Amino acid sequence: MFEPVFGLNPVSFIIIKGFSPVLLCVAVLNMVQRKFLPNWEPKRLATLYMTFILAGLICYSLFLVRFRLSDWLHAISITFIIFLVIIKRKYIFPFAFRCEKCGSRLSPKTIIFVDGNQCRECADKEDAKSA
Ligand SMILES: [Zn+2]
Repeated sequence: MFEPVFGLNPVSFIIIKGFSPVLLCVAVLNMVQRKFLPNWEPKRLATLYMTFILAGLICYSLFLVRFRLSDWLHAISITFIIFLVIIKRKYIFPFAFRCEKCGSRLSPKTIIFVDGNQCRECADKEDAKSA
């Protein structure tokens, strides 16, 4: 069995021990979002992408620990993740804290579970126009 040891791989140790609960929380959030966004809307896909990125990083850390490789190889993975997040930020972070029409603060429920990044009043106006 290979347990990460802080003295040998401090970065991998922190990633494995610290990010595993975060991975679990994001995966559970994705399942909770299913109730409000049943058809893989952008915000639900975003938490799925986050789950994949975190799981990939944890697997890479386990790989480094298993084969006793240097933590300096995390320079590759972290550079790759930073580039991925910068290039695909529209898909990975579609969450906005303010309404895109009027600029008022959105409630946490709207930020996480409602697609469109609009407050209720602006969304109702949009619905009235289109109807
Ligand atoms: Zn608004």
